[in-house]
Amino acid sequence: MPNNVIRVGNVEIMSLSDGMLEFDLCNFFPTIPEDSWQGHESDLTEEHKVRFNLGSFLIRSQGRTILVDTGLGPKPADAPDVPWGQLMRDFQDNGVRPDEVDMVVMTHLHRDHVGWNLMPEGERYVPTFPNARYWMSTKDWEACRQPEIQPQRFPNAPSCVWPLADLGLIELMDGEHTITPELTALPTPGHTPGHVSILITSQGERALVLGDAAHNPVQLHETDWVSRADMDPEVTRHTRRILMERLEREEIIVAAGHFKAPGFGKVVRLQGRRYWQVL
Ligand SMILES: [Zn+2]
Repeated sequence: MPNNVIRVGNVEIMSLSDGMLEFDLCNFFPTIPEDSWQGHESDLTEEHKVRFNLGSFLIRSQGRTILVDTGLGPKPADAPDVPWGQLMRDFQDNGVRPDEVDMVVMTHLHRDHVGWNLMPEGERYVPTFPNARYWMSTKDWEACRQPEIQPQRFPNAPSCVWPLADLGLIELMDGEHTITPELTALPTPGHTPGHVSILITSQGERALVLGDAAHNPVQLHETDWVSRADMDPEVTRHTRRILMERLEREEIIVAAGHFKAPGFGKVVRLQGRRYWQVL
């Protein structure tokens, strides 16, 4: 099996990527003094930046093909050298066709998770995944339509999310939501109001698609370290603490879209600290 594919019971999870993004520490973690990163240099680039993979997960379960998150989207025409915009090429490289996808599930509606949902075609938009319906939380759907927060927090929603409603392709999720017999959306709010992580259960084995409940492995232990992308810092901290305790205790496999690709690992404890153990 290639190293970007794991099996959880009867379910296959393939890690795909739209590329990557990089930020200065003071930009992405403005409230964490740079000194605090001492000892965590391995979680940073050589230039002491935070680097994010833009991961999507393609899940094959009971005859269905489910894509979790759709990256940042096509490269802008005026910036062809950006290090993202590669998801469709990664589909091709892995022998997957967009028309195989039956279900698109978004962990939340931030710009780097919805980018490939739709393609412009003249005046209108068409779904990039022509046979799919699109799942999102009601809370995020409502948040991305609020004029006070949309431009800053959900900048590409007008082109990547809103048109899905006119196309009649949206499936809304409230609270803990059974997506399929093997996939459940678990509310993990804070980063966005309706953020969810996706729990996969099959043959007694379990995995969790984390979403943005953490952006960097350091946050498995430093659960209070919020970033500027976390919309509600207090709720984010609470959610992350409870979630990391559970992932460690129950030894659940984690698929982390923003960690180094392919992003499969476990939360383990060594000498009093939580660590990311790559699978
Ligand atoms: Zn993200």
